[in-house]
Order: sequence, then structure tokens, then C-alpha cells
Amino acid sequence: MGPWMAKHAASTLLLFVALVSIVGCAERPVVEQLPAANFNGPLVQAPPAVEAAKPVAVVKPAIPEPKKSAPQLAGIPREWTPNATKSDGWRYIVIHHSATPSGGARAFDKMHKAKGWDELGYHFVVGNGTDTADGQVEVGPRWPKQKWGAHAKTPDNRFNNYGIGICLVGNFDNERPTKAQMQNLSKLVSYLMKTYRIPADRVIGHGDTKATDCPGRNVHIADVRKMAAQLAAGDAPADTYAQSTPGEMLVTVPRK
Ligand SMILES: [Zn+2]
Repeated sequence: MGPWMAKHAASTLLLFVALVSIVGCAERPVVEQLPAANFNGPLVQAPPAVEAAKPVAVVKPAIPEPKKSAPQLAGIPREWTPNATKSDGWRYIVIHHSATPSGGARAFDKMHKAKGWDELGYHFVVGNGTDTADGQVEVGPRWPKQKWGAHAKTPDNRFNNYGIGICLVGNFDNERPTKAQMQNLSKLVSYLMKTYRIPADRVIGHGDTKATDCPGRNVHIADVRKMAAQLAAGDAPADTYAQSTPGEMLVTVPRK
């Protein structure tokens, strides 16, 4: 061994010792890492009696995926089912009257814009045979966009943010809503309650949110709840909606 070799061997040994001391500190002794002793003998597993059938590859037929949107009920005007989704949901249904003898979505849209609002504040308007047919349900421009309402202002604004606003045309302090108005209001309310899982006690009149007599003393929310519940009971078969008089369920969306 020459002097160079001796020097080299010495440095290799030093490196080895250094490595062992570094690694050895971090790791547990090898014995500890072994599994616990087992004296029960090896586990003998009987072979399966019958070889499991090999999974058959399932080839899915090339059927196009149905478009993912809210479920569509037969007899429900398709405008009632928006394509958009409100991420924070709907929690209330707030009933109003227009407090005017006549009108419709288009007229109220104009009135609301004149007040400086963005557009018609309600989501739906139920006609009384003046501007639109008796009981005709008009879908306002907010609904397809699933936009918050402008119909029931309160300090925390929860009825505007989470309330679906429905206006019956008429002044129900003086007159009574028509039968067609009440029927179609109930159909609409029943549909909305089911679709958005809104309980009956959250179907309210504007007067339940603040001091106002809206929707008028001749509109009884208890009746609306009862009629809507009757429709909803038994899962309101599609026919229930379809049975309405033709023309009653016409829908229009006022243009900008
Ligand atoms: Zn109101």
C-alpha cells in the first residue's frame, strides 16, 4: 500500500463512518422495523371453489347524454324552468297584488324602470283579463336569468335576495282575485315549492315581510298554501298541470 492508497483508504473509511452516523441517527434499529413475530403458522387460504367469472367489458351504446337542466314536468310551460341556476338558491315565495285594476308584466316593467329600477321587480305576473288573459302567467325577465328580485325590500334584503316575487294583477283590497288567477297561482306556487324545496310556511304575502297590506285583504295566503299543497300531494301528476284550460297558461317574457 503506497502512501496515496493509505490516504485514500483512510478518507473512505472516514466517509463511511460519517454516513453511518448520519443515517443511523435518523433511522430506528433494523429489528424494530420488522413485523411482530407470529407463531400461528402461515395463513392458508383455500382456493376459490369456482373461479370468479371474468368481468365482461360493457360497451355503452353511443347515446348522447341528456342535457343537464332542471327536471321538466309535463304540462309545465318550459319558461317556468330556467336554464340558469341560482347558486345561493330560493328560500321564499312572496305574493303581491299590483294594487291597480289592470296591468301586466310589460306595464309593470315600464313602471319599475321609471322608478329607476333595473327591470320588472317581480319574477312572475298573473293576469286578470285586462292587459293579459285571465289567469295568464307571465314570466318576467329576471326569471330566466335567475336574478334576485326587487319586490320586498327589508333591512337585510333577504326577501329580495332569496324570494321569488309573484304579482297578481288587481287591487284586492277592493276586489277578489279571479278563480283562474288563484288556480294558476297555486299551480305556479306548487311547482316552485317542489322544484326549490320551499316549505309552506315560507310562502308568504308581502305584508308578512313589512307593514303593508299587499297582497290585499281578499287574498288569503292560507288558501294559496292549501291549494298548492293539494296540487303537490300525490306528487302532482303531470296531468294536474295539463288539465288547465287551454290559453290559461300562456307565457310571455317582456322584452327590454
Ligand atoms: Zn307587494
